Amino acid sequence: MTLSDKLSHPTTYSDADSLAATPAYTLPAMTFPVSISPTIEVDGTMNEAATAQSAEADVHPTARISSSARIGREVTIQAEAQILDRASVGERSLVGPRTFVDEDVIVGAYVRVLNDVTLCKGVMIESGVFIGPHVLFTSMENPRAIYPSGEPKPETQNDFECILVRHGASIEAGAILLAGVRIGQFAMIRPGSVVTQDIPAYGLVAGNPAKLIGQVCRCGHPYPYNEEPTSHTCPDCGFTLPL
Ligand SMILES: [Zn+2]
Repeated sequence: MTLSDKLSHPTTYSDADSLAATPAYTLPAMTFPVSISPTIEVDGTMNEAATAQSAEADVHPTARISSSARIGREVTIQAEAQILDRASVGERSLVGPRTFVDEDVIVGAYVRVLNDVTLCKGVMIESGVFIGPHVLFTSMENPRAIYPSGEPKPETQNDFECILVRHGASIEAGAILLAGVRIGQFAMIRPGSVVTQDIPAYGLVAGNPAKLIGQVCRCGHPYPYNEEPTSHTCPDCGFTLPL
C-alpha cells in the first residue's frame, strides 16, 4: 500500500470518526474509544536501548521513551524528544528534536511532528498530520496548582478536554490549540494562530483568535474566503473540494 493509498483509506479512520461525535472527556477516567492499532506495533517490553533495534525505529540516543510507550515501525525519534507512558506513535511518523509527547497521547501513522512541539494529555492526532515547530497544545481547563485551602492540587485533579486533529490536517509553526478543539480533515492552520474553536474540514484559518480565511485543497493549494460555499477544482492536483 502506497503512502497516498494509506492517506485516502477511509476504513482506517472509522473509529476516529465516531470519536468526533462524542463529548469531551475528563481525566483520570479518560479513555480513548478509538483504536489505531492496525498502524501501531505494540511491544510492551521496549526500553530506551532496545527500541532502536527491536521496532525498526530510528531513535536518537538522547531521546527518552517510556517502556510502556508504543512505537510503530520505521518511526524516527530525534534528539532529546520525550515520549511518556502509554503514548503511541504510529508507523513511519517523525517526532522532532525536543518534542514532548505526554502520557496517553495518540499519534497516528505518517505524522510529521517537527521540533519543540508540546503534545499534552488528551491530544489525539490522526494519521497524515503535519505539525510545525513550537506548536503548543493546551488541554487543561481552568488549571490550578493548589486547592483554595492552599494544599497542592495533583495534576490529575485538573480537568482535561481532548484535542482531536483529523486526518491530513496541517498546523503551522507556533500555533496554539486550546482545550477541546477539533481540527477537520485537511484543514490548515497558519503560523502563530490561536485556535479557540473547531475548524471545518478543508478550512484555512489564521490569527488570534483564529478565523476562517479560506479553504485549502488536500495538496495545500489555498482558496480565498467566499461567503457562499463554492465548489473548487484544484489547478494543481485536480481534487474537487466537497461543498
Ligand atoms: Zn490540490
